[in-house]
Amino acid sequence: MIEIKHKKDCCGCHACENICPKHCIEMKVDQEGFWYPEVDQTKCINCNLCEKVCPELKQYANPNALEPQALGAWNLDAEIRKQSSSGGVFTALAEWIIDQNGVIFGAGFDEGFRVTHRKIIIKKALAELRSSKYVQSNIGDTYAQAKECLGQGKKVLFTGTPCQIAGLYTYLQKKYENLYTCDVACHGVPSPKVFEKYKDYLEDKHSGKITKMTFRDKVKGWKSYWVTIKFENDKLNTTQYGQNPYMIGFLKDIYLRPSCYECTFSTIPRVADITLADFWGVGAKYPELDDDKGTSLLLINTQKGKELLLSCKEQIFIQECNLKYAIKHNPCIAGAVKPHPEREQFFKDLDNISFDKLIKKYLNPPNVLKRVKGKVWGILSRIKRRIFR
Ligand SMILES: Cc1cc2nc3c(=O)[nH]c(=O)nc-3n(C[C@H](O)[C@H](O)[C@H](O)COP(=O)(O)OP(=O)(O)OC[C@H]3O[C@@H](n4cnc5c(N)ncnc54)[C@H](O)[C@@H]3O)c2cc1C
Repeated sequence: MIEIKHKKDCCGCHACENICPKHCIEMKVDQEGFWYPEVDQTKCINCNLCEKVCPELKQYANPNALEPQALGAWNLDAEIRKQSSSGGVFTALAEWIIDQNGVIFGAGFDEGFRVTHRKIIIKKALAELRSSKYVQSNIGDTYAQAKECLGQGKKVLFTGTPCQIAGLYTYLQKKYENLYTCDVACHGVPSPKVFEKYKDYLEDKHSGKITKMTFRDKVKGWKSYWVTIKFENDKLNTTQYGQNPYMIGFLKDIYLRPSCYECTFSTIPRVADITLADFWGVGAKYPELDDDKGTSLLLINTQKGKELLLSCKEQIFIQECNLKYAIKHNPCIAGAVKPHPEREQFFKDLDNISFDKLIKKYLNPPNVLKRVKGKVWGILSRIKRRIFR
């Protein structure tokens, strides 16, 4: 029977809940707002399937993963690219799968702007999955749904964080030729409870319910993205990511899940067939790939990933790039981030002080001097790279 002794040993993938034949495992939320399994011992038959499918206990690694091939890429449909976080490659892959009568699984907002995984079968509905939502997505029973579709012989594209993809493979326990997977480069998932509190704070401040939310609005370009939130009273809250308190906390790694700081799935070789990422730093080495409309970094990790990309080649612009360079500018692809020194205190304060006060204490933008220093340092590094290229 699954027993979580240390929180860092559970990534909250829901594989144990999905597999339990007696439905005696329920994912319950802890004080920080993350899901952990709780077993009803009166119903448990000690079959140990829950332990068998735990990707953390199993230390899952994809047996088919090769040394990745790195590509700079984007979707040739300009509108889709604009609506996507990086180059919009996810939509091109998903559309091809749907053209083959396949199904897609990924993360979208529900009616309460909670992030949940769901099944999509028509192209129009892919808009729900498009664009990153920076909060842990609830897998629900989507592993079981994916298994059913795979059993019916349908092509399935399952997308999610690396640990969610690892959880899917361990849950399935067998190889399916019709399964394709994409993981996102993930430096960690924020607490859904913090996200709830942020939304409540915004709705209070703007006296209205949220009707639309975009973490990656390209209104001023891809690199300097904005967070845009609309309310039912037509009010608009829009801030550059570096000024947005929620994004500041996310990028400081202050409220990520404990397992994210020890993540064994954000590594090379990768867990999924294809890894989707932002190609940060692309302009310094490949200026031809940087028009500030969004460039995806693709890691093609398996033979199946190669075949999937090849099937969509009419829809995607691609250019081969250097893997080491790409990882240098996006280190979370090959290793876990470190916890923020104030993480523990932040979660102690979460239930005790208002969000307004949390912002003042932890989530303020760096001061002007620090920002100017950062910019100057960035310019000098770029000049240095150009000289010594
Ligand atoms: C929590 C999180 C952290 C990330 N951190 C980084 C990073 O440090 N560096 C980096 O380069 N890229 C990171 N990414 C990935 C990046 O933001 C883009 O998602 C990726 O480049 C794909 O972009 P796209 O334009 O191809 O497709 P898009 O349309 O932008 O992405 C859609 C895809 O993202 C998936 N997705 C969206 N939200 C979630 C979620 N909450 N959980 C699981 N899957 C989700 C959808 O299922 C879909 O497959 C992160 C993504 C998430 C969700």
